[in-house]
Amino acid sequence: MSTRRRLPFISAAILLFLSLPPPLSATNSHDQQHQNHESDPISRFRNYLRINTAHPTPNYAAAVNYLTAFAATIPTLYTQTLYLTTPDKPLLLVTWPGSNPSLPAILFNSHLDSVPAEPSKWLHHPFAAHLAGDGRIYARGAQDDKCIGMQYLEAIRELKKSNLDYTPLRTVHISYVPEEEIGGFDGMMKFVESREFKELNVGFVLDEGQASVSDEFRVFYADRSPWHLVIKARGPPGHGSRMYDDGAMENLMKSVEMMMKFRESSFDLVRAGLAANSEVISVNPVFLNAGIRSNDGFVMNLQPSEAAAGFDIRLPPTADPDQMRRRIAEEWAPVWRNMTYEITEKGPLRDYQGLPLMTATDDSNPWWTVFNQAIAAAGGKLAKPEILASTTDARFMRQLGIPTLGFSPMKNTPILLHDHNEFLQDTVYLDGIKVYEHIIRVLSSFDGDSITELQNKMSRL
Ligand SMILES: [Zn+2]
Repeated sequence: MSTRRRLPFISAAILLFLSLPPPLSATNSHDQQHQNHESDPISRFRNYLRINTAHPTPNYAAAVNYLTAFAATIPTLYTQTLYLTTPDKPLLLVTWPGSNPSLPAILFNSHLDSVPAEPSKWLHHPFAAHLAGDGRIYARGAQDDKCIGMQYLEAIRELKKSNLDYTPLRTVHISYVPEEEIGGFDGMMKFVESREFKELNVGFVLDEGQASVSDEFRVFYADRSPWHLVIKARGPPGHGSRMYDDGAMENLMKSVEMMMKFRESSFDLVRAGLAANSEVISVNPVFLNAGIRSNDGFVMNLQPSEAAAGFDIRLPPTADPDQMRRRIAEEWAPVWRNMTYEITEKGPLRDYQGLPLMTATDDSNPWWTVFNQAIAAAGGKLAKPEILASTTDARFMRQLGIPTLGFSPMKNTPILLHDHNEFLQDTVYLDGIKVYEHIIRVLSSFDGDSITELQNKMSRL
């Protein structure tokens, strides 16, 4: 426990406020518009963005304090901070109790952390949350995914503001988890294994999605699973002038050639428009390690006895992992070519029933229907559901068989997650709050196919 966490809550909030950079001078109409309303949604969003939760030293305590203080201003919300690993990795849970707590709850998830940023490559400092004259808010995390974290709370605030007595039928939870950007193993993975998570009785989850460059919102029903593959070849060393069989380099190059052919055949499908990037297995070389070092480079007249190469492999849920393992063992790193390999699987591939980690996007999933109704009620349009090319915490919920969709309401927005100059337009952010008002209202009032839900739940026990 840090000294800071032991301070009474108010003091911590004041400390946090004092630690924020001084307010930016009003240099444009957007800033002038917002500066007089310290408590408006844009100011609150910018204050959240100013908390540096980038790896490798994310300030989770400040982010949790800030969100807790905001949630405390919204009637009937209560918060709990969980420490599922170490005291420096808190997880914040916000709850809006429903009138029928026996119905499975809805969970809205967002992660507290972000990837690092290189300030020298940005137009504006990545943690100043600069609001430009055209309404763009520049900050690391503006799209990924501090926008949704604040929008969830803002939407509930609006629902309560328009009707103080409004109570959802189902309980609504919001989770703010640490460590997503480094795999979620000390964050969401621990959370779904916890007693606290089981007690929430979650029936449906909305997690982060990605920006859409068109007028339609994107929605994701699966992630790809990452594998880190390292292959190693060994062979007799020899003079650089000699030709002989089974040298380490020769064996490694044979494998690399085969793997590049496989990569081409996947990529050809994408190039021909027959599959999306995220629907094929990707195999990308990330390192080569061979050669004997000399003072000015490498020894050139010596063929080394060892060589290795590393690959980032991503498997869509439709891929057969056993077939992939066989391919690696028999073709890409076979013992008979004096090769060894190591696969590090970065997360689950199948759910508790052995089924691919996918959420159904048809009538078989009542939540899909309800989600569509909510988007329609918000006046929005959904693009064709997609598999996410990368990986999010959604996989840990899907592993439990809980229907989970990835969704961030950012349309007509360039995709800038993990990029320099990540920004979100102020109007897109404000529209997103409205979208969540509809989503939260429609989902939480779904009285549901309780029998299906109960069966799903029973089969998970
Ligand atoms: Zn994210």
